[in-house]
Amino acid sequence: MLQTPLNLFSLFDYSQRIYPKKWIVTRTSTGMHRYQYRDFGRRVRQLSAGLQQLGLQPGERAGTLAWNDYRHLEIYFGVPLMGSVLHTINLRLSADHIRYIVNHAEDRVLFVDAGLLPLLEPIKDQLPQVRYIVVMGDHPDVTKSPIQPAIAYEDLLNQSTPDIIYDPNLAEDNVLGMCYTSATTGNPKGVQYSHRGIYLHSMAAGLANTLALSESDTVMPIVPMFHVNAWGLPFSSVWFGANLVLPGPAPTPKDLVELMANEGVTVAAGVPTVWLGVSRILEAEATRLPLRMALCGGSAAPPALIRTFEDAFGVPFAHAYGMTETSPLASFSRLKSGLQDLSADDRLAIRATQGLLIPGLELRLVRDGEEMPWDGASAGELWLRGPWVADEYYRDDRTRDSFQDGWLKTGDVATIDEEGYIRLVDRTKDLVKSGGEWISSVDLENALMAYPAIFEASVVGVPHPKWDERPLAFVVLKEGKSATKEEILAHLSKNFAKWWIPDDVIFLDEIPKTSVGKFLKRALRDQYHEYLMPSQE
Ligand code: ADP
Repeated sequence: MLQTPLNLFSLFDYSQRIYPKKWIVTRTSTGMHRYQYRDFGRRVRQLSAGLQQLGLQPGERAGTLAWNDYRHLEIYFGVPLMGSVLHTINLRLSADHIRYIVNHAEDRVLFVDAGLLPLLEPIKDQLPQVRYIVVMGDHPDVTKSPIQPAIAYEDLLNQSTPDIIYDPNLAEDNVLGMCYTSATTGNPKGVQYSHRGIYLHSMAAGLANTLALSESDTVMPIVPMFHVNAWGLPFSSVWFGANLVLPGPAPTPKDLVELMANEGVTVAAGVPTVWLGVSRILEAEATRLPLRMALCGGSAAPPALIRTFEDAFGVPFAHAYGMTETSPLASFSRLKSGLQDLSADDRLAIRATQGLLIPGLELRLVRDGEEMPWDGASAGELWLRGPWVADEYYRDDRTRDSFQDGWLKTGDVATIDEEGYIRLVDRTKDLVKSGGEWISSVDLENALMAYPAIFEASVVGVPHPKWDERPLAFVVLKEGKSATKEEILAHLSKNFAKWWIPDDVIFLDEIPKTSVGKFLKRALRDQYHEYLMPSQE
C-alpha cells in the first residue's frame, strides 16, 4: 500500500476541495459573523504566511488564549499546517498556571483575544520566551497589550498573501498540538498530539458506531476550544464538511439555546453542567431544539438529565468518555441493536454508562496488577492504548506514574459488563474509602440528581476517625423547591446499602466548578476537611 502520511494537510485539502461552500458561523460580541470554508481556507493560508514572516519555525509552539470563534479555528489549522505546534491554553486557569504553561511549552507567539489581554497583566514580565503577541478582535488597540511587540491579527493577515505552499508530506509523527490537563494537584501536565493521532481520532468521530458526524450536520462545540481541542470537533467537522457554529465569548445557557434553535444545530457538545443550564432554560420556555444529538462528556451524565432531554425536550442525548491524554474520545454510549427490547429503565441504565470503547483503541481493567473480568461487577483501573492515546507527559517526571508497559493508566476506576459497556465507578482519588470498602461518589450523585427538588449534587469523602472516610453530600436545590436532609437521605436509602448513605447533607447555593465546568471536589474536600459529622458528635 502507499505510505501517504496521515496529516492535517490531507484533511484540510480534502475539505477545501469538496466543501468550499459550507458555513462557519460565530457569535461575536457585536453580532453574528458568517463565512464559507473557502474564505476560511484563504485566511488560514494568509495566517501561515504571516507567521512565517514573524519567524515562527516548524516545531515551535504558538499559544492561544481564546474563545470558540472563527479566528481560533483559523489558528487550529494555520499553525500546524506550516509544521508548528498549536498550543491551546485554558483561559480559566490561575495566572500562575498560565505562566507555568507558556514557559514550559516555550511558546514563541501568543494569540490572545483582545478581551483576554488583562490575563497577561500579572505575568507580563515573566514570559521571557514569547516573541510576539497577536491580538484578536475587530479593531483592537494593540498598545493595550501588556506584552510588546503586539500586532493585530487582522493586520498580520492583511500583510500576507494566501499563496503559501504547504508540504503535503508533512511527517505524520510531527507534533500538531498540545494541551495541558487542568491540574487538580501540582502543575498542569502537557500532552502532545501528533498529526497521525488527530487524523485517526477525527476519522473515529465520523463512524456510525460513534458520533456519525457528516456533512449533513451543523456542529456546535460548546466545549471550549482551549481544552482538549474541543473534543476534536473542529478537525472532524471541517474534514467532513459539516457547518460549524462557534458560540464565542462566555455564552450563557440562553445564548446557547438561541444559537441551537436559530442556526439549525444538529450536534452540540458540552459537559453535564452546561446541559443542566440549558435544561433550565428549556424548562422555562418551550423552544424546540433541532438537535439530533446532545453530546455530553467530561463528567458522568446523570441519568435524570438524559431522561429529561429525551422525554421532556425530545432531544436524543449521547454520553461519551475521555480525557486530555486520549485526544479525548475513548468511549461512546450507544445501545446495541440486540438490547433495544429491554425495559425503558434498563435501556437508560446502559445509555448512562460511559459506553463502548471506540474502535481503534484497546483497554484493560487492572487491579493490583491483575486483569479483572468483564462481569459488570469487578472494579479495576482503566488502562488504554491506541494511536490517539498519549505515551508521556511533555518533559515531566510524572510520566512514570501514569504510563506503564505501553499503556496509559487513566486513574479512573470502572467495571465492564459482558457486553463491553464501561461503567465508571469513580476517579481513583474521588472514591470514598469507608472501612476498607469503596463507595462510588458518582452513584450517589446520580441518585441525588434524580431527586425532583435537586438541581446539582456532589459527594466527597471526609476523614473519619473510625471509618477512614465517610461520604458527605452537597446539594443545590432547584429554584422554588424545598427538601429536608431527612427526605433526601430517605430517598437514597431506597437504593443503597445503609453504609453507603452520606453522614450529612450540606445545602449550597452553587457547587464550585473547575475551569471546564466540572464539579470541583477538591474545593469541597479542602473546605470540609475537618467537618464534624453528626455520627462523631
Ligand atoms: P482534567 O479535568 O484532569 O483536565 P480531563 O478534562 O482530561 O482532565 O478529564 C478527564 C477525566 O474526566 C477522566 O479521567 C474522567 O475521570 C472524567 N470524565 C470524562 N468523561 C467522563 C464521563 N463521561 N463520565 C465520567 N467521568 C468522565
